[in-house]
Amino acid sequence: MKLLVTGGAGYVGSVCAAHLLEAGHDVVVLDDLSTGHRDAVPGGARFVEADLAEAAGDLLGEGFDGVLHFAARSLVGESVQKPEIYWQANVVTTLRLLEAIRTHATPRLVFSSTAATYGEPESVPIREDSPTRPTNPYGASKLAIDHMITSYAAAHGLAATSLRYFNVAGAHDRFGERHTVETHLIPIVLQVAAGTRESVQMFGDDWDTPDGTCVRDYIHVDDLADAHLRALDRATPGVHAIYNLGNGHGFSVREVVEACREVTGHPIPAEVAPRRAGDPAVLVASSERARTELGWAPTRTTLADMVGDAWRFTQQRQQS
Ligand code: UDP
Repeated sequence: MKLLVTGGAGYVGSVCAAHLLEAGHDVVVLDDLSTGHRDAVPGGARFVEADLAEAAGDLLGEGFDGVLHFAARSLVGESVQKPEIYWQANVVTTLRLLEAIRTHATPRLVFSSTAATYGEPESVPIREDSPTRPTNPYGASKLAIDHMITSYAAAHGLAATSLRYFNVAGAHDRFGERHTVETHLIPIVLQVAAGTRESVQMFGDDWDTPDGTCVRDYIHVDDLADAHLRALDRATPGVHAIYNLGNGHGFSVREVVEACREVTGHPIPAEVAPRRAGDPAVLVASSERARTELGWAPTRTTLADMVGDAWRFTQQRQQS
């Protein structure tokens, strides 16, 4: 298939673009490099550096079999401070993309949605029919896009899939996580091991969890990419399918820090800090629907797998 990958210079987008190329697809990456990196775009992909809203129409006019839409702003804290950025960059831009898809009758769309669409869960594991009550504008913007996609699929026959990621981790070959402003736990802990940060703060040790620190469902980015390929194959015209992607098993912040110590051999000083605003205590996915309907099953499910790959990527970056 000829596929447009928006945000293919970012973490998840670049890894998925690499998987698509390995599977034999023809890949065009569209990215404005506002947060992505030119050298993260896999060789073999055609790269277009442009504003998505402006360029999508002309590009899709070439004729594509599908779009994988990763391009987005994704910092929860920033979305609380500057919600206008999120409504513009996520919702307005995606509406322009959907209009280009409709105009040029592009048949398929796979969208990067998020566990943040659910907000504070009433119960775990979180299923796709759990209430969606996002607690920040980032999650609200992604949920608004999910609603837009549902209506476009129903009205215009688009074969659409939203994949709601839980905590993505790990790396693929030379593609991994490198944000200019790092807020995520595993890369922050590995910065300590790499010597570019003194210590890690654990945000709260008085949560209602087995060891008092927050529990999250980490999923390897290669497993995530595999779900995108399956979603493309299974897409049905007029249907918007939504799938949670997680391991179904939670790891605490303490367990993550300990796994990083084991993988890196670094003592990694960690101190307890106040809770971070907006953090739920436990987020764990039910991915039963993806398992049943996509035949998907995560294969790199241990912290050692995920942290090990992320550490290898960190070390490669340090040497280059
Ligand atoms: N966390 C932490 N210290 C940090 C960064 C994150 O204790 O420096 C915690 C955070 O409070 C959450 C978990 O690690 O409980 C995962 O946070 P992350 O930002 O990686 O992902 P999120 O779950 O917010 O999407």
